Amino acid sequence: MIFEDLKLSHALLKAVKDQKYTTPTSIQEKAIPLILQGNDVLGTAQTGTGKTAAFALPILHHLEKEKSNNNGKTKIRALVVTPTRELAIQIAENFTDYAKYNNIKNTVIFGGVKQMKQVKRLQAGVDVLVATPGRLLDLIGQGYISLKDVGYFVLDEADRMLDMGFIHDIKKLLEKLPKERQSLFFSATMPNSILNLSNTILRNPKKVAVHQVSTTAETIQQCIYYTNKSDKKDLLFHILKDKNITQILVFSRTKHGADRIVRNLKKKNIESAAIHGDKSQPQRQKALQSFKNSEVRVLVATDIAARGIDIDKLSYVLNYDIPNEPETYVHRIGRCGRAGEEGISISICEPEENVYAKDIEKLIKQKITEVKGHPFPQTEKPMNAKEKKASEKEKNRKKQEFFANRKKKKNSNNRRW
Ligand code: AMP
Repeated sequence: MIFEDLKLSHALLKAVKDQKYTTPTSIQEKAIPLILQGNDVLGTAQTGTGKTAAFALPILHHLEKEKSNNNGKTKIRALVVTPTRELAIQIAENFTDYAKYNNIKNTVIFGGVKQMKQVKRLQAGVDVLVATPGRLLDLIGQGYISLKDVGYFVLDEADRMLDMGFIHDIKKLLEKLPKERQSLFFSATMPNSILNLSNTILRNPKKVAVHQVSTTAETIQQCIYYTNKSDKKDLLFHILKDKNITQILVFSRTKHGADRIVRNLKKKNIESAAIHGDKSQPQRQKALQSFKNSEVRVLVATDIAARGIDIDKLSYVLNYDIPNEPETYVHRIGRCGRAGEEGISISICEPEENVYAKDIEKLIKQKITEVKGHPFPQTEKPMNAKEKKASEKEKNRKKQEFFANRKKKKNSNNRRW
C-alpha cells in the first residue's frame, strides 16, 4: 500500500511526502481508513509505530473538509490528551508538519511552566489542542478553554495515563466533552482496567492492534553484558570507548541512579545530561534539545521521562539496569531503530537481575546475544531467597539506625539552643 491509496487530501499527501514517508506503517494502514469513515477506534499500539500520524492525518483530513468556524475566532475542534510533556510537544510538532499546506492550527499546553504564553496562543485561536491532563483542566477551570466545539477526541497512551494517576482527571475531562464526537483511544497494553476505561469513552469502536514486540525483534540488534553490580560503572566506560557510539540513550530505573550516572560520566569528560521527573520542564527540554543537536553524547533517562521521546536516527539504547517488567524493556529499546531504522540495544545485567533477563527473553521469544570475553564478567552469584531476606533485613536495620542517630542529633542540637 502507498499513502495515495488512503484517500487523504491533497494537502496532507504533499505534507507526508515532505516527511519522506513512502509507505504507511501497519497501524496507519489499519487505522486511517476506519477513522476517515467516522468510526471510534480502540488501538493497541505504542509510540514508535507511527501511531501519531495514524490519528493526526485523518483528523486533519476531517477538519480540512469541514467548514472551519471562522466567524470570530477559530474554535478547538480536535483535542489530543497525552500523559507526558515530551509526548505532547512531539505530537503537536507532528500536527504542524502534517498541516503545513492546509492551515489548520494547533497548539500544545502542559504543566511545569508558566501559563501565560500558552494562554496567548490559545487566545489567538487554534483548531487542534494537544494537552497533558492537569494543565488542560486548570485552564478550563480558569475559563481560557472551552471544549464545546470538540468533534474529535484522542486519548493517547491510556495505560501510562492510569500508571501516572490521571484517572480522576480523565473522568473530569470526559464530563466536559460534547456527547457527539468521534473518539480514538490508544494504549500500548490492554488490561481490563484500560478496556473498562475505553468503554466509558468509545461508541462501537473498531479495534486495531500492532504488536511492537515482534517489530522490535526484527529491527533491533540486542546484546547483553553479564557483570557484577560494583563493575557496572566501569563497564559503561568500557562500552563507551566504542567510537561508533556517537549518541546513546541510557536508561536508569531511578532518578538518583540517573543523576549518579551523569556525575560519573562527567568525571570522565563524557558529555551527558539527565532527564527525569525531578528536573524542571525547561531543564528537560534543554537536555533533550542538546542531545538532539548532538552537543551531548549520552542522555540518561528514567522510564517515565523517556516515554514518547522521539529522536530521529537514534541507533543506540543502553539499559543500565534490567527492568523487572519485561514490557518496560520492550518500551525502552523501542526508542531506537524506529520506523524501520537499524538500532542496537545494549543491556548491563548484575546477578540479581539475571531472572529479569530470563523473563524478557521469554516475552520477546528470543535469546539476547551475550557479549563474552569482556573485562568485567559476572563472578558473583545471585542471592538465594534466604540470603536476599537477610540482606533486606540488614538494609532495614541500617536505615533505622540512621534515622535514630539523626533524631538523637536533632534533639541534642535543640537542647543546646
Ligand atoms: P510515532 O509512533 O508516532 O511516535 O512515530 C515514530 C516515528 O516514525 C516518527 O519519527 C515519525 O515521524 C515516523 N513515521 C511515522 N509514520 C511513518 C511512515 N509511514 N514512514 C516512515 N516514518 C514514519
